[in-house]
Formats: sequence, structure tokens, C-alpha cells
Amino acid sequence: MDLSQFIHKIPKTETHLHIEGALPWSFLEELNPVKYSGDPYFRKADFRYKNFAQFESILIEHALEIFKTAESYYRVASSIFKAAQSQNIRYVEISFHAGMIEFLKIPGTEILDAINSASPSGLEVRVYLGMSRNAYTSYLGPIIEEAVNQWDNLSGIDLHGPEDLSIEDWTLPIWQRASAKGLVLKAHAGEFGPASNIEYAISQLGAKRIQHGVAARESEVLLKQIVDEGICLDMCPISNYKLQVVDSWHDHPLQSFLKKGIPCTISTDDPFSFNNTLEDEYHACVEKLGLSISDLVQIAKNGFIVSDLSNPEKERFIGEIDRAWVEFKGNDSSN
Ligand SMILES: [Zn+2]
Repeated sequence: MDLSQFIHKIPKTETHLHIEGALPWSFLEELNPVKYSGDPYFRKADFRYKNFAQFESILIEHALEIFKTAESYYRVASSIFKAAQSQNIRYVEISFHAGMIEFLKIPGTEILDAINSASPSGLEVRVYLGMSRNAYTSYLGPIIEEAVNQWDNLSGIDLHGPEDLSIEDWTLPIWQRASAKGLVLKAHAGEFGPASNIEYAISQLGAKRIQHGVAARESEVLLKQIVDEGICLDMCPISNYKLQVVDSWHDHPLQSFLKKGIPCTISTDDPFSFNNTLEDEYHACVEKLGLSISDLVQIAKNGFIVSDLSNPEKERFIGEIDRAWVEFKGNDSSN
């Protein structure tokens, strides 16, 4: 078994994935084969975005071509989940963006149900509602309240979008109510923003899951809190490289975070924008970040440990990872 076969064989999770940013390019090719033939410049391997605004405008421009109805969410989700299964991904946490409810004027529950109902057997799917720091408009505010209080089959909430927007007064009560309802609390923090955004998300919002969290490296006090409280960082190395969150591959803190005992996972974030697969992320960890196979094993296990699967299910997947590792080590004693 070589490295590619090992990466393929271990059961994996995606715990940081935006459905609008995971639009398969093939949907655009089918829609307009002339306009969308071949990969565009921003999906080339060596392309790096100038800033978050450039990334966001390109993504929105393309996503709005396809995401128009709940049915379109169903078709895209089905395609994403099929591709996930082909990589032996067994558990996916996927978010949809609250702003799309307002933009498309579709009931949020229809989008939620569409994504959940696209979940195939053999793949565990959890759906999150993502909302920007300024999402609580007169239109969306009541919908966000209803989502947190009443939506069945919503697994959690996630703070999305540009981190330079300040946290507004509505956020804390919403995160508190979501916590009381048993929803999983996530927040994008420490991607483009400072370590203090992560500290706020953990200490004030009660988030147990930080999306990215790269800036945690700026504060030893925060790193100790993350370790002590077992906060998971759902990291996305290729996204961080392509968005220039890190200056170079060498600059990425994943390895040092793992050494400190932080339960990090890896995911693709927005594979439409970065043209990456989860198996690419595992390869990048070894080939660009210098992680060991033992680190990959820990990352894969972390994904199941932080999931909301039952303990017997977690043990089953972790056992599968361990057996694949034993088999891999049998091939090559240097691992
Ligand atoms: Zn993200």
C-alpha cells in the first residue's frame, strides 16, 4: 500500500464545508458548455487569491448561476455526497449560508430538508446554518430565531464571513439559545482576524469548534485555553494557502498545533474556489507541511472524535483507521 492508497483507505470526515463553496464545476459546464469549458484561472493549482473580497465575489458570481431553488441545493448536495463517498468520507458537516434564504426568498427549512434528504446511505450528514456577523437583518432576524428555536434536523450554527465586521448584539443571545437547544456551536475565527476573535468565540459565544483558528498561534494564553478546553480547530490548509492566510506552506501552524495536543481536523472549505479534494488535503499535509503518517492518523481520528456520532460508531471508524495504519506500516518500516 502506498501513501495514496492509505489516504484513500482510511475512513475520513469533512467537518468544515460550505455547500455554496462546494459547487462542482461540472454543474456550470452543463449549464453553459461554451462559457464554462475547462478550468478557469482561479482553479489553477498555483493560483492564490489577492484577498477575501476577491474570493467572495468570484464564488458568489458563479454560485448564483446554480443555486436558485431548494431542488438545486438537493442536486448539488447529492453530487457532493457522491464524490465524498468515492473518497471514503463517512461523515460530513456541511453548512448553508443564511444570506441565501433572503437572496433567493426560499424558506430556510426547504434548503435544510433538501440537503438532509440528499444524504445517501453509508454517509452521515449534519447540516449547519452559517450566518455572517451582520446577518440579523429585518428579514433574516426572525428566520434565525426560528431556526435556532424550531428547526428539526439542524445540527448547529456557524459564524461565517468577513471577520473585520464587528460582533453585533444579537449574536450572543442566539448562540446561547442554540447551546440550550443542544445545537453544536461553531465560529469562523482567526482566519483573517486576530487571536482575540477566537478568544471571543470560545469564551463568550461558547463555541467548541473553531473554523480555521490559524491566528491562535499569536497567543500562548489562548493556545493553552484551546488545549485545556479541548477546543477543536477545523483547519483547511489548501484554503489557507490559496487565500494567503499563511505566507507559505512552511508558515502553516497545523503541525505545531498537533504537537501541542490540539484536536485539529482537516477539510476542503470551498472546493469550488480551491479545486481541492479531501485526499488532496491529506497529501498536502505530508508533502507541503511535513506531517508524519502518525499525524494523518490523528487528524482522521479527530474528525470522528469531534463528530456527533455514537460512541460505538466512533470506535468502529477509529478501529478501521488503526487497522489500515497497521497494514501500511507493514509495507514500510520507516513509518
Ligand atoms: Zn469556511
